[in-house]
Amino acid sequence: AKKKGVSQLVYFNTRMVDELRDRSMMLSELKESLDNQMFTLMYQPQVDLNTHQVVGVEALCRWRNKQNEQVSPDVFIPLAEQSGLILSLGEWVLHKALDDLHRIRCIKPFVRMAVNVSTLQFNDPDFEKVVSNALALAGLSGNCLDIEITESVGVLGSVEVEEKLARLKKLGVMISIDDFGTGFSSLSYLDKLSADQLKIDKSFVSCMNPINSGSNIADMIVALGRKFHLNVIAEGIETEEQFNALKAQGCHQGQGYWFSKPLVIDDLVNWLEQK
Ligand code: C2E
Ligand code: CA
Ligand code: CA
Ligand code: CA
Repeated sequence: AKKKGVSQLVYFNTRMVDELRDRSMMLSELKESLDNQMFTLMYQPQVDLNTHQVVGVEALCRWRNKQNEQVSPDVFIPLAEQSGLILSLGEWVLHKALDDLHRIRCIKPFVRMAVNVSTLQFNDPDFEKVVSNALALAGLSGNCLDIEITESVGVLGSVEVEEKLARLKKLGVMISIDDFGTGFSSLSYLDKLSADQLKIDKSFVSCMNPINSGSNIADMIVALGRKFHLNVIAEGIETEEQFNALKAQGCHQGQGYWFSKPLVIDDLVNWLEQK
């Protein structure tokens, strides 16, 4: 039994070493990628459920490694966060997305750019400066930008977070709470929150069905939004049934494969021109 225990330990350790080596290899590749322009952005339209007008697009980051394989952002974003690289990557995303917004606004002048901001980025003391610099460089006003944060940025409703949000809102920037309801924070902050929008996570949209209609989590978030005067947008709308159900509950906006998958900028421009 002892022998077996030792060999399992050895096996486990080499696996851990392998994983560590993979991670550090990926990390050094990630760092090089910023210089070598290996990151790209795709854009997914956000649509008003009543008027069908495109109101915004969400920038979603893509990365191809040296083997030319697409790596999911669910893999490389956490790694960029752990290493601090997310600060420079996040800044690049902001600049690139606002630059591309000019092309989008030639077709649809009021479309907003939604950008995902990670906790480390939001909590960086320079974050507001990074945002205002990016806006100034692109020659755009704050109301062109929608910042998607999650509950993990800190205690929403706390003085610290609220002051930061208020300063961002002074720039005219819109604030959305991404993946709303998937975290573990309480709802007690909602009446103090200076955000503009709640974003329903796709996990709550995919489980909508005719039987739980009116009493599922997505519907409750829509009701919360109404109560607290917050706009509500649903992500991951894949079917007409989901679209109809959300619209019937009074959800304002949506995005998902049913409207469009995330598109490279040229395809997005074509898509917008055909609308
Ligand atoms: P998220 O912000 O919750 O983004 C929604 C994800 O759902 C995206 O995955 C999007 O492509 C996908 N999606 C959109 N419509 C549908 C649909 O109808 N059905 C299904 N099944 N999925 C849909 P993606 O692009 O793989 O991004 C994953 C996550 O990575 C994002 O989740 C976000 O948290 C993070 N991420 C992506 N880009 C950035 C970035 O530039 N900065 C930061 N900090 N995080 C990013
Ligand atoms: Ca998002
Ligand atoms: Ca997110
Ligand atoms: Ca989500």
